[in-house]
Amino acid sequence: MAIDTHAHIFDAQFDEDRIDVINRLIEAKIKKAVVVGFSKETNVLALNLAKEHAFLYPTAGLHPSEANEITESDILDLEKFINDNKVYAIGECGLDYYWVNDNKEKQKWLFTEQIKLAIKYDLPLIIHCRDAVADVYEILKEYKGKLRFVMHCYSGSSEMAVEFVKLGGMISLGGPVTFKNAKAPKEVAKIVPLDRLLIETDCPYLAPHPNRGKRNEPSYVRLVLNEIATLREIDSDELEEVLDQNSINFFKLD
Ligand SMILES: [Zn+2]
Repeated sequence: MAIDTHAHIFDAQFDEDRIDVINRLIEAKIKKAVVVGFSKETNVLALNLAKEHAFLYPTAGLHPSEANEITESDILDLEKFINDNKVYAIGECGLDYYWVNDNKEKQKWLFTEQIKLAIKYDLPLIIHCRDAVADVYEILKEYKGKLRFVMHCYSGSSEMAVEFVKLGGMISLGGPVTFKNAKAPKEVAKIVPLDRLLIETDCPYLAPHPNRGKRNEPSYVRLVLNEIATLREIDSDELEEVLDQNSINFFKLD
């Protein structure tokens, strides 16, 4: 059994064959998947999928790419949503300076509001970070010891991974760790303490080798797992057991 800690199974790319994708997840002995929302609409879609399948666990968040459109009342709506429904994490949220970087203060505000919600409701926080590692780190540092968080699909340096671990965070690796030229993720896979590691697909994006460039799906999470086991020179069954336990503890999955 294995757990995909970050999947967007509600994505329109799965509309034609979602049930086949979910069946392949079961066949591949993926025990559970965390279905990650990132907007008002997708938070509802994630929740609805989880109502249909007991092994899917929904989260709710507001993505930095939507920061310009988000207002105070959207934060209140998000709080109401997590009060009214069982969610297992806040996020994904964070900072993304790759697509838009002229609204950094707005992005930081949106990120910080969700950090506060995570602390208030004792939920873990799923963090998206693209071209913004220094600012994400500075913000998280202020909440050291108060916040449970995961750096999702972590793509930064091993040095920064160590710093996030020191703040109490988890590091989650996805498809890129399997790419032949992915030096940094492979280094990260080797040095992160085992009890701080998670795995994910981030499907439908970032499919692992040999499916790189194709649509990703939860059953491929095993390719990520096997690559990390090879890099760390440990038995993949043994690694699987540790990662399962990490995921269950971090997200409080039942
Ligand atoms: Zn994602």
